[in-house]
Amino acid sequence: MMIKGIVRRVDGLGRIVIPVETRRMLGLKEDPYVDMYLDGQIIRIKLAVLVETKGIVRRLDNLGRVTVPREYRKLLHVAEGDEVDMYLEGNEVCIQKAVYGCGWCGSSKELYEVNGHHICKACAYDVVDTVVREKEKESGRL
Ligand SMILES: [Zn+2]
Repeated sequence: MMIKGIVRRVDGLGRIVIPVETRRMLGLKEDPYVDMYLDGQIIRIKLAVLVETKGIVRRLDNLGRVTVPREYRKLLHVAEGDEVDMYLEGNEVCIQKAVYGCGWCGSSKELYEVNGHHICKACAYDVVDTVVREKEKESGRL
């Protein structure tokens, strides 16, 4: 899996919900202003300290949503309905485009989703081959 935290969807207005526990941990409950800046392919969000902001200051709405600026969404290639991976690093919330990987080898190519888990075609075939071989052994013993 390449997902580091929780997966959230970007809504039609470019908003992402920051979970209540995370907001509480970062002290965003009483003071809902966040400082949002880009770090490569990661959007970093932290409590805004107005004398030393690093990026764009935004206010969380009463549902804990923050609007990600259009230019940030463009750079990260996230649009309405896309999934983002949200995780904590120190006192910052990190948001990245969600990239799924095979739970066996980490590959992000030709993925199947099985009961909420991802497996690539090559690994799925290996599993099937192993199961088939075991079945043949079992039936040979009978
Ligand atoms: Zn795999």
